[in-house]
Amino acid sequence: MNETATAPTAPLRARAEIDLAALRANVRALRARASGAAVMAVVKSDAYGHGAVPCARAAVEAGASWLGTATPEEALALRKAGLPGRIMCWLWTPGGPWREAIEADLDVSVGGMWALRELVAAAREAGLPARVQLKADTGLGRGGCQPGGDWAELVAEALRAQSEGLLRVTGLWSHFACADEPGHPSIAAQLTLFREMLAYAEGQGVRPEVRHIANSPATLTLPESHFDLVRTGIAVYGISPSPELGGPADFGLRPVMTLSASIALVKHVPGGHGVSYGHRYVTPGATTLGLVPVGYADGIPRHASGAGPVLVDGKWRTVAGRIAMDQFVVDLGGDEPATGTRAVLFGPGDRGEPTAEDWAQAAGTIAYEIVTRIGTRVPRVYVNEEQAG
Ligand SMILES: *Cc1c(COP(=O)(O)O)cnc(C)c1O
Repeated sequence: MNETATAPTAPLRARAEIDLAALRANVRALRARASGAAVMAVVKSDAYGHGAVPCARAAVEAGASWLGTATPEEALALRKAGLPGRIMCWLWTPGGPWREAIEADLDVSVGGMWALRELVAAAREAGLPARVQLKADTGLGRGGCQPGGDWAELVAEALRAQSEGLLRVTGLWSHFACADEPGHPSIAAQLTLFREMLAYAEGQGVRPEVRHIANSPATLTLPESHFDLVRTGIAVYGISPSPELGGPADFGLRPVMTLSASIALVKHVPGGHGVSYGHRYVTPGATTLGLVPVGYADGIPRHASGAGPVLVDGKWRTVAGRIAMDQFVVDLGGDEPATGTRAVLFGPGDRGEPTAEDWAQAAGTIAYEIVTRIGTRVPRVYVNEEQAG
């Protein structure tokens, strides 16, 4: 878990400010968009780098009735922190903490026969029924059972264990491959197959509380995919799943994380001065350089060397030369901001600063990766923790 700094005014080397009011508003916007369905806030990987527990609490306050994580350890940590209600986790490996999950009243996903067997054995040991959600592979080709293959066996075995009181099948679910490309033929194909796999399981006697397939892009663009529950991750954090779909504001979302660092040094250098490892940047003339004390160990992608944007004193500057482990340099073009001036790497974008999407483009990746990789050495500073009104 990340360090938490409580005083937003502390003079920190770097900080990731997490605006919980923005997060709550994003959850409300998603609830409005998927009005026939419940919302699961996906808080895996420490809430995409934003901090799992504070973000989960804020999401629940704003009406997310489910929380979702990848690993059981992440889900157990939420329960231990006192998060109430339904928590689902889906990334299991053999020997996983099935019994702890049952005792913590988690909903666990099983997408293969080995997992169902381990779950049933744990339920027997615990003397408690497990809550299980059966995962169908409708075309992603990742986890889950295949139609016409082991889906029938999984459904049959789950029903048998249910009749013995060892579990309850609470959900049937799947995941999209290309929901961020509206019109991609795989979307309609996956929906058709999902409906068929649901009909098969329900025909056999499964009575799921929730059927779900939509991630953020499907929630935002594909109402027919909402079913009973939508699993939104990146949109909760106010980031568009794909710039081709539109920016956050187009969906009524606002980025939650603002990453900044305190300029550690400003100095004059002549023209022809090499900057950072490998001298990939050489000053074109006499100028000033600013030292920004964050690097790839903090999750700043080295692939954004020579390209990443930073707001310093109202102006966009660009990373000069290579991003190092702990620091990088910007060419300040002769300006002399005071040391300690905050350099904003990314934020919501409406105060002149770059966004995580800008960094994604500079590094040749997606904004999901930019926020998720911000390291534990960067304290998360929570603002607007109290719900107004
Ligand atoms: C991460 C994840 C999500 C959330 O995806 P977003 O695109 O961030 O909304 C939903 N479902 C599953 C299974 C996931 O792994």
